[in-house]
Amino acid sequence: MAYKISDECIACGACAAECPVSAISEGDGKYVIDADTCIECGACAGVCPVGAPSAD
Ligand code: SF4
Ligand code: SF4
Repeated sequence: MAYKISDECIACGACAAECPVSAISEGDGKYVIDADTCIECGACAGVCPVGAPSAD
């Protein structure tokens, strides 16, 4: 399963810069992950200051 970003996201953008497959984009008030593109590497979870991304 792809990673998902919870409502804890503060839209800092750090995860999008780290994603190796550019699966993360800015959504409505928070960032979102394209489930079809995510390869579940966990990099986004590693850099997020609020722990918003998690494996589904
Ligand atoms: Fe990108 Fe990896 Fe996060 Fe998936 S788990 S969105 S591939 S950084
Ligand atoms: Fe949101 Fe965390 Fe990504 Fe920042 S690093 S945009 S807080 S999910």
